Amino acid sequence: MSSVASVVQYPLPCPECKNYTSQPAETLRKDRKSTCRVCGSTIRLTDQQLESLERTLSHMSGCGLRKDEIELATEENEEEAV
Ligand SMILES: [Zn+2]
Repeated sequence: MSSVASVVQYPLPCPECKNYTSQPAETLRKDRKSTCRVCGSTIRLTDQQLESLERTLSHMSGCGLRKDEIELATEENEEEAV
């Protein structure tokens, strides 16, 4: 099963050096942390950042990034709806 979360790269600011490090959203959602690729510091996601990440993902999946897959899924479900 492929999802938006596995392809979207989500950038997080490092608290130490302020550089942004991008990680797949799926990894961030699971681990709730990242490692700065510049200075190696651990970047922890705040609840706010996690919430914003979830919002970004649901927005993306609802607005056509994976439109083909969504349409296929809808077609399959229509039989049951009748
Ligand atoms: Zn850093």
